[in-house]
Amino acid sequence: METKTADEKYDLLIRNARLACPQGELQGDLAAADGRIVRIAPRIEAKADEVVDAGGLLLLPGGVDAHTHLDLTVAAGHVCDGWQKGSAAALAGGTTTVIEHIGFGPAGCSPDQPLSAAFAAAEAECGCDFRIHGVLQQVDAETESWLLRAKARGVVSWKAYMTYDFAIHGVALRRLCRMSKAAGVLLCVHCEDDAMLAAARQALVAAGKISPRYHAAARPAACEAAAIRELLAAARAAGDAPVYIVHLSSAAGLAEIRAARQAGQQNVYCETCPQYLLLDETRYLDPEQALRCTMSPPLRSRADADALWQALADGEIDVVATDHCAFSLAQKHAHSEDFRLVPNGAPGVEERMTLLLSAGVACGRISLARAVEVLAANPARLFGLAGRKGALQEGYDADLVLFDPTAPFAFLDQNLHGGADYTLYHGMPLTGCIRRVWTARAARGRRQEAGGRPQTQ
Ligand SMILES: [Zn+2]
Repeated sequence: METKTADEKYDLLIRNARLACPQGELQGDLAAADGRIVRIAPRIEAKADEVVDAGGLLLLPGGVDAHTHLDLTVAAGHVCDGWQKGSAAALAGGTTTVIEHIGFGPAGCSPDQPLSAAFAAAEAECGCDFRIHGVLQQVDAETESWLLRAKARGVVSWKAYMTYDFAIHGVALRRLCRMSKAAGVLLCVHCEDDAMLAAARQALVAAGKISPRYHAAARPAACEAAAIRELLAAARAAGDAPVYIVHLSSAAGLAEIRAARQAGQQNVYCETCPQYLLLDETRYLDPEQALRCTMSPPLRSRADADALWQALADGEIDVVATDHCAFSLAQKHAHSEDFRLVPNGAPGVEERMTLLLSAGVACGRISLARAVEVLAANPARLFGLAGRKGALQEGYDADLVLFDPTAPFAFLDQNLHGGADYTLYHGMPLTGCIRRVWTARAARGRRQEAGGRPQTQ
C-alpha cells in the first residue's frame, strides 16, 4: 500500500517501464527514495524530484560483477584502470557493484595485509559500490581464524589459485576446504593445474613457439578440467564445502562440474565470462588480436563456447562475471614477442551487461529472467548482498539500469569509459544499449550533501 502522504515526494519516479522483476516482467512504474526502491506498481500517482518516462524501455537492477581486477598490480605492472577509472567503466556499463579480486601481498604476509590495503584504496577512490574477496597465499594454522576475523568485517569470500606463485593444491587445498566450510565463507578458485601448465609451456618453449599466438596452446582445457576435478574432490571430502569456480572456459571443465552435481555434491557454483561465450581461439591467429586476447584461461573453441551458452540457458552456470583486468595496448605491446611476458587480462566490465543482453537475450539464447539472474541476482546472493542488491524489489537499493533492447549499438576502442584503450568487441554489431544508470550510492550522497533534507529542483 502507498504510505507516503500527499506532502511527501519520492526522489525518483520512473514511469512506463518494462520492469524485470524477480517474479516476472511487469509493465509499470517504480519509485525510489533515499536510494531505496520503495514502490513498484502498474501506476504510481505521486510527486517526485525526478520523473522519467521510460517510454516502454526495459528497467533492470544494477549489475553485480563478481570478478574484477580494477586496481591490480602484477609483475608486468599496474592495470591501466585504478579504482576511479575502473568504477567509471563499470557504471557506464550498468554495473553498480563490483567485487574485486585483489593481488597478492609480499610472500609470508598475513591475509589481512593486501585486504586492508585494498579497502583503503577502494574507499578513497571507487565510484561505485564494491565488495572485496580476500586472497589466500598459503594455508596454515592461522588461516581459519583469519577467515573468521575478515568475515566479521563483511568479507564472505576468498580466492585461492591452483597455479601461479602461491598455488594451493593437494593437502593444502583439502585443508582449506575444511577451514572455509567451518568459517562459513565461499571459496573462489582459479582452476588450472599448475604441473600440466608447466609441461605444456615447456614443450612450446622447447619448440621455439613463444609468440602470443601460442598462448592458448600453453593452457589447454584439460588443465582446467583436471584442476576442477581436484577442487571438487577436496570440497566433497570436506563435507561439500561451498566452492565457486571462477572464469569457467571449457566444455571439459563444465563436464567435471556436471558430474559432481549429478553425483549429489552440493554447494558447487561457477561463473563464466562474456569472452568465453562470444569469442574463440581463432583470435590468436592474428598477432594483434593474440596480444589483446592474452588472458588466463585463454579463449577456447567455438564448441566450448556453445557448451557454455547451453549451460547458461540450462541453469548450470550461476554467474556471468568479467575477470576485467585491463592493460593498455602499450603495456601489451611492450612484451609482444613472448607469451610468457605479455600481461594477462582484458577489459570487460563496461561491456558485460550489454553483451549478455544482446548476444544472449536478443539472440534468443537465454531468457531475460536468466540474464538478470546471472548478471545481478545470483552474484548478489552468493556474495552476501541478498536483500539489498540484484533485484527490482521494494526495499532493495535503487541501483537501476534503463536499457533500450532494440537499439543497434557497438563498442569501439576509443569510446570506453575506463583506462583501457581497446575493447575485445570493437565494432561487433549488438542489439540494445544502456540509456541511463541510477545508483543508490549517488542518491544517498546527494541527500548527505543536502544536509539530510529532501532535494528540491
Ligand atoms: Zn581474475
